[in-house]
Amino acid sequence: MELHELPAKNQNLAGPLQKCPICRASWVEGEVFCRRCGADMTWILDAQRLGRTLLLRALAALACGDPRRAAAWARRARLVHSTPFSREVARFLE
Ligand SMILES: [Zn+2]
Repeated sequence: MELHELPAKNQNLAGPLQKCPICRASWVEGEVFCRRCGADMTWILDAQRLGRTLLLRALAALACGDPRRAAAWARRARLVHSTPFSREVARFLE
């Protein structure tokens, strides 16, 4: 993956949550509970937000010329909320 392939600033860097992880029902952003099974999505959204924050720290470290620190943040982001994008960033920094 090349740097110019990274998504634009206004895109969701962690990848949008689209389905309930419990019952796989489609999920509309902003809903706290799954419409089908009633699962509480709060912890999932928290993990998604934290993953996004960690990924942004990785990109900021990279922009500051510190690829080692960037790789460490990217690994944490992938552990918290693994997405195709976070996996690509971590792979890019390895
Ligand atoms: Zn559900």
